[in-house]
Amino acid sequence: MGETIFAKIIRGEIPSDKVYEDDLAIAFRDVNPQAPTHLLVIPRKPIPRLSASDPEDEALLGHLMRVARQVALEAGLEDFRVVINDGAGVGQTVFHLHLHVLGGREFGWPPG
Ligand code: AMP
Repeated sequence: MGETIFAKIIRGEIPSDKVYEDDLAIAFRDVNPQAPTHLLVIPRKPIPRLSASDPEDEALLGHLMRVARQVALEAGLEDFRVVINDGAGVGQTVFHLHLHVLGGREFGWPPG
């Protein structure tokens, strides 16, 4: 799998509206928001998709969840949804693992 647009965002070669960063992860606003708040949390490590993660990624995956929690709370969200699309068949378009953090409106269930 070739390099993704998120790799360029991590390196700062493409601008992003960043809301969080640390040694392991960054979070930024989705360029095509599907809700009033729509953030993406990504690891700096280029894991293509959740199903391609390794046992050694366990702590990193936990960290991404904690970052999702933090940016959601900092955005003022009381209720929010965290989504990972794993594979083109369910809508993954960027093959660098990312958590969508969505909130600020009502959501239906099941998701479409
Ligand atoms: P997915 O469809 O789960 O792979 O999600 C990819 C997301 O990345 C989509 O919601 C896009 O709107 C978003 N996206 C693509 N390019 C950029 C970018 N340059 N900056 C911010 N978000 C982006």
